[in-house]
Amino acid sequence: AKKQGRNNYQLYDVLLDRKAFEKLQIENALRKALERNEFVLHYQPIINLYTNKVTGAEALIRWKNERVGFVSPDQFIPIAEETGLIIPIGEWVLKTAMLQLKDWHENGMEGLTMSVNLSIRQFYQPNLIPMIKETLELAGVEPRYLTIEITESMTMDVEKANVILHELKGIGVNISIDDFGTGYSSLSYLKRFPIDHLKIDRCFVKDIADNKSDENIATTIILMAHNLGLSVIAEGVETVDQLGLLKQHHCNQAQGYHFSKPVPGEEFPRIKVPS
Ligand code: C2E
Ligand code: CA
Ligand code: CA
Repeated sequence: AKKQGRNNYQLYDVLLDRKAFEKLQIENALRKALERNEFVLHYQPIINLYTNKVTGAEALIRWKNERVGFVSPDQFIPIAEETGLIIPIGEWVLKTAMLQLKDWHENGMEGLTMSVNLSIRQFYQPNLIPMIKETLELAGVEPRYLTIEITESMTMDVEKANVILHELKGIGVNISIDDFGTGYSSLSYLKRFPIDHLKIDRCFVKDIADNKSDENIATTIILMAHNLGLSVIAEGVETVDQLGLLKQHHCNQAQGYHFSKPVPGEEFPRIKVPS
């Protein structure tokens, strides 16, 4: 490398150090956040498009930091994942969501389902199945009311993923493939994996009403899913036009700002679905 190159390397090292330092700071802050109970769950309704009723909720974590306010999961989940802190955080999420669901079941929302996002590290954690079973028992929730959301990228190791998915099905929970269409996709696995729902990623829903090829992608996913016996949930539905098209193509369920943003647990029972 020439002189210029060397300087670049030095700059690069400094930047790397800074990044590493920032990461360490966030890691420490995340540890404290767990101890201090700074995480909260918000819940977004999932609407059945045939009945126009709320049939489920997706639990979405937020970090309520005293100095910076609400931190979005996109900003800390990757670091929690890298550092392994996602394991205790993920357990907290599941437990909190299941206790909330139990409360809703006992207060007029019988039959409501709860979707919980799993990260890849959790998915491959040997303790996953007993942890879920214990949490359901502790909360007194039947497994059929829990839906585990995984992403396509977690199923890269097809054999291993298939075993875990069958174990999950074995305890009676439902499985959704989240962000469908954005990741590694081998359509053949869809037939082998014991999954219940496909969630069409927001990026395909976004221009569904304005762009014919996006409409084609969405409708093809819906058709394919239905042919495989899977139900389809559209993510990120924001407009009446998007909703109309999804209904026209027999999409089963939807969630998005058109219906409601994710809200704190207290607000969830008051959500009114626009017709
Ligand atoms: P996701 O699972 O795909 O969740 C959907 C995201 O889209 C949420 O962002 C939600 O607030 C947002 N959203 C919902 N409807 C609309 C809409 O109509 N328009 C737009 N523009 N956005 C919409 P959020 O809550 O910031 O979560 C981001 C991601 O963080 C999630 O994506 C998920 O991958 C991850 N995440 C959230 N909570 C957890 C958790 O408890 N555990 C794990 N492992 N990951 C989580
Ligand atoms: Ca999700
Ligand atoms: Ca998603």
